[in-house]
Amino acid sequence: MSALPLITAQTEEALLAFLTAHRQSAFRVKQIMDWVWRKRVSSFDAMTNLSPALRQLLAENFRFYSPEIIEVHGSADTTRKFLTRMEDGSLVESVIIPAATAENGEKSDRITLCVSSQVGCAFGCKFCASGLLGLKRHLTTGEIIGQILSAESIAGKRVNNLVFMGMGEPLANIDNVLPALDIITSHIGLEIGARHITISTSGFVPGLKKLAAYPKQIRLAVSLHGATDDVRDQIMPVNKKWPLSQLIPALEDWGKDRNQMPTLEYILIENVNDSPKDASHLIGIAKRLHAKINLIPYNTVEGLPWKRPSERHCYAFRDAIRKTGIPVTMRYEKGHDINAACGQLRLRKESSQTSQN
Ligand code: SAH
Ligand code: SF4
Repeated sequence: MSALPLITAQTEEALLAFLTAHRQSAFRVKQIMDWVWRKRVSSFDAMTNLSPALRQLLAENFRFYSPEIIEVHGSADTTRKFLTRMEDGSLVESVIIPAATAENGEKSDRITLCVSSQVGCAFGCKFCASGLLGLKRHLTTGEIIGQILSAESIAGKRVNNLVFMGMGEPLANIDNVLPALDIITSHIGLEIGARHITISTSGFVPGLKKLAAYPKQIRLAVSLHGATDDVRDQIMPVNKKWPLSQLIPALEDWGKDRNQMPTLEYILIENVNDSPKDASHLIGIAKRLHAKINLIPYNTVEGLPWKRPSERHCYAFRDAIRKTGIPVTMRYEKGHDINAACGQLRLRKESSQTSQN
């Protein structure tokens, strides 16, 4: 593997530092970013407003690279999931979610991409396919951004909404995620507004504190999935180290200086977290945090025992929350049939590769 860093992983600050160190003018940053992010060239030779010497300098220090797209599932109007292979053979999955028709009946051109932040996950939530094989490694800044570039080449459109809800715990890989966010939100980079980006965390409190210090108004979703320590301890090992008594104050701190509150993600799993008592604990937390709730009927994962409650039961749970006035939505996963729950595609592929070996 070539050791040169990817040009697509360079923040404005990093490029500026590089150019300054090589006695180049600062305005070259904008020119280079323009070639990379607006014109989407794939070689330094194509950067025709730079001197040949500067192009050579860049080529000696950086490289272009796009991961190989090895599988695409789904069709253009639906959720499409794709698998890419990194240079070390690691498999990464991402999901393209086209906008639903806008409320006024017109088709909106919003495209949401669900990106992975790690290969696998160390957090081992009991219901999740990503955790089943453990953590292989963090994704680099370039690999996180590479998913957006791959998605845009598959969809033929720009991605304008981003959710870190694929494989991995983004806050455990904050050192690669924050520079990616710099590039993604930069007005001379991918130019996706911070408010169109959501980071989802299972409740990794040290990472939450670092994200709170990040100046951009990135949205936050918290995978709560249980509204008491008893329930969370059963299904999410992270809760043993950072129980609700630590997580909730950390979320309050996160929200203090911003004009927004986190969304609480809550998977509904039959007989685990779906009783009226669970609903009332959840309501208590949402009130305390002034948070919205997003209910997600569980997507079954092959080999795991958990089940999705009946549709009626899910709606009853939602209605119990709704009548308290707390904003609540229920997201029936569009991609149930294409293994859209995070980690499932890779799991299948890795398992079939292992069984072939
Ligand atoms: N690690 C982060 C982000 C990735 S997971 C987190 O846990 O928040 C993205 C979301 O998918 C999380 O809310 C996760 O709990 C949920 N999820 C995982 N497996 C699922 C499944 N089988 N069905 C429905 N949602 C699932
Ligand atoms: Fe990791 Fe999130 Fe899956 Fe838990 S739900 S194992 S934190 S990816």
